[in-house]
Amino acid sequence: MKHYDVIVLGLGAMGSSALYQLASRNVSVLGIDQYDPPHRLGSTHGESRITRVACGEGPMYSALARRSHRIWTELEEQLDVSLMRLNGLAVIGGPRGAHRHQNPRFVETTEEAADLAGVKYERLSPAELMARHPAFRISDDEKVYFDKDSGYVTPEACIRAQLVRARQQKADIRINERVTSYESVSGGVCVVTDRGVYHAGQLIITAGPWLPQLLRSPVELKVQRQVLYWFALADRKSLEMYQPENFPAFIWMVPGRDQNIYGLPALGGVSDGVKIATEQEQTEDTPESVSRVVSEEERRSMFATYVEPFFNGVTSQCVRAEVCLYTKVKDARFIIDRHPDMPNVLVASPCSGHGFKHSGGIGEVLAKLALRETIPADIDMRQFTFEEPARVGAA
Ligand SMILES: Cc1cc2nc3c(=O)[nH]c(=O)nc-3n(C[C@H](O)[C@H](O)[C@H](O)COP(=O)(O)OP(=O)(O)OC[C@H]3O[C@@H](n4cnc5c(N)ncnc54)[C@H](O)[C@@H]3O)c2cc1C
Repeated sequence: MKHYDVIVLGLGAMGSSALYQLASRNVSVLGIDQYDPPHRLGSTHGESRITRVACGEGPMYSALARRSHRIWTELEEQLDVSLMRLNGLAVIGGPRGAHRHQNPRFVETTEEAADLAGVKYERLSPAELMARHPAFRISDDEKVYFDKDSGYVTPEACIRAQLVRARQQKADIRINERVTSYESVSGGVCVVTDRGVYHAGQLIITAGPWLPQLLRSPVELKVQRQVLYWFALADRKSLEMYQPENFPAFIWMVPGRDQNIYGLPALGGVSDGVKIATEQEQTEDTPESVSRVVSEEERRSMFATYVEPFFNGVTSQCVRAEVCLYTKVKDARFIIDRHPDMPNVLVASPCSGHGFKHSGGIGEVLAKLALRETIPADIDMRQFTFEEPARVGAA
């Protein structure tokens, strides 16, 4: 039986990144996935993800996003592929729509994070945003944050690129193989799959929405069904309004609605449409129980409630819809930590609905933790522990 320095369990956004980082450090590493990533059953599919350095979730995330941008740029150069485009971000919110991650100050927190991270931004009036980006229909009482250090990244392409580079640097990869158990043994960890048994000094678990089933630890993780929708555009002129040079990524606490929306530029033609989605907090699921079918009623309701009132040039024809899973920790935090009972096991649960933009940097952190390298001082690992970090000002 081959002994590895490190095994990575799960090769989605976080695992493929960790595998690539470990392989490029010249250690013996095995990556295992129950499917053939990138696939459509976890959290990392659907064409595009917003990336932003200044995050309304808090300033502790900026250093991870910046590292991810650097890593994706390096991968683009190494493999001659396109992974990311910083075409701008609008964060829009007003008094009638203040729900996001329980942070009613999402726009202001984004500005504070931008100040701390040195991101240049503008505060635009709704009229100014609509003059620049005529696709939006924004009411007068909304605030608009806008920066150009943000944009979008293509998640499936990032996974592919990281796995290609990991293979080139001698990582072993086993796909369509499911880990059924793992345990601490003398000198490390023993991992059992439906096809074999492997030993390693360290195990990194990056199992996304399957993490609750694999994690023997009392942390609350909620898996939530989310739906991504693409609506066809009216004509070529409308398509132009939604192309990356004319339409930024956006997060919008839309007025008078239960959910926030976000969206990304059109990356195809008129009939491929523009991607717009909501975030629901009401229901919980598992990857096995979740309904992956998006009904006609859901599509109709999405268009009537969240698309038609807020955008120009979009038709009611829903050309694509994908179910994707959030894995949420309380307060939309990330966990990137050693297992409390198994010191040779590292766990990363950095979804909480906003993890992809940090995945390049998180893979690097996981590799450093596994190899006991120093974590750069600008990444505050105390924020990402199993135990909730003490809040500033808390008793
Ligand atoms: C609808 C939606 C929109 C989002 N939008 C954004 C956004 O705009 N910006 C942003 O930054 N983030 C966004 N996110 C969050 C981001 O996509 C996630 O944080 C990220 O994709 C999580 O990656 P992961 O590696 O943890 O999980 P996954 O990519 O799901 O990977 C987990 C892997 O583990 C494997 N696995 C699990 N169990 C086993 C087992 N027992 N044996 C072997 N393999 C196993 C799975 O097959 C899977 O490949 C969004 C998420 C969703 C769902």
